Amino acid sequence: MNRVYNFSAGPSVLPEAVLKRAQEEMLCYGDSGMSVMEMSHRSKVYESIINGAESLLREVMNIPDNYKVLFLQGGASSQFAMIPLNLMRKGKIDLVLTGQWAKKAKAEASRYGEVNVVASSEDKTFSYIPELDSSKFNPDADYFYICENNTIYGTKFHKLPETGNVPLISDLSSCILSEPIDVSKYGLIFAGAQKNMGPAGLTVVIVREDLLGYCKDFTPTMFKYSTHVENGSMFNTPPTYAIYICKLVLEWIKNDIGGLEKMKEINEKKAKMLYDFLDSSSMFKATVSPESRSLMNVPFVTGNEELDAKFVKEAAAAGLVNLKGHRSVGGMRASIYNAMPVEGVEKLIAFMADFEKNN
Ligand SMILES: *Cc1c(COP(=O)(O)O)cnc(C)c1O
Repeated sequence: MNRVYNFSAGPSVLPEAVLKRAQEEMLCYGDSGMSVMEMSHRSKVYESIINGAESLLREVMNIPDNYKVLFLQGGASSQFAMIPLNLMRKGKIDLVLTGQWAKKAKAEASRYGEVNVVASSEDKTFSYIPELDSSKFNPDADYFYICENNTIYGTKFHKLPETGNVPLISDLSSCILSEPIDVSKYGLIFAGAQKNMGPAGLTVVIVREDLLGYCKDFTPTMFKYSTHVENGSMFNTPPTYAIYICKLVLEWIKNDIGGLEKMKEINEKKAKMLYDFLDSSSMFKATVSPESRSLMNVPFVTGNEELDAKFVKEAAAAGLVNLKGHRSVGGMRASIYNAMPVEGVEKLIAFMADFEKNN
């Protein structure tokens, strides 16, 4: 069986070099005599894995020392509750409504306080990032929340909101590690690992120290950031194997790719090829306006549902899989995360050109 080009939105493609390395180390990691999966998380050898993952993440993302890095579980979705439970003080936040994930974050935050929707793109099925009018920002808000890359709709904030002293909180699940970012511009960022960092089961949180310590009294112990800060993400058993794979992914970015500047160049090249093709095609059309387009998730349509379905089916038969769009948007979506090789995008474009000729 040959490996396919997997355009899944998540869990998604991993670098082949990472999978091979994991295969080599599957039965016996180093001289431990066992698989990483079988290790005590309290052992010296595992300690070197989790500490290595954290220091690599700090190095690759250039995370300042006054930020804590946490390796948690519960998915990005748990953060929708953990963030208000830990960071709400006065009980008012600002939020930009750019899709389903921001909507879910809003619903959870609304259980604990008041959510001021600063702007929304719901009027046009979230196909753009709305202009922000800073006179609508609440200068007294506990934080300002955005979903930076909208996985389902294929939109991305290309400019961060200027929130002044109000901490910016960002869901980076589907764009973390895709390009360099200035961590110091944020109060907290988080990501489910299964898009661009590793396998499902791991959630990474990066939080500025001074925001901690205001947790609501009734917060369950496992939902307090301080619990995990105080215990080095080892209050209970962390997702040990997922953290190990994440470490291998970070090594791949650092050593094989050459860091996030290089990663960004490759991602921009892949995205440009695909958007250029879509903008010149008479059959396929990108659904997102050029100024809001994501580097990672590229939704497109033919305008004809039957033709869309035929395309998805024939593409899969040709080894280009998981191109069906999200059920709320329809059409197609190509997720071209870090681990999707340039050849995968080239093959997809060649297949689309052929399909266009024949249909
Ligand atoms: C996938 C995704 C989520 C949900 O992640 P889970 O780990 O499944 O909870 C949240 N936000 C964004 C932007 C996503 O892409």
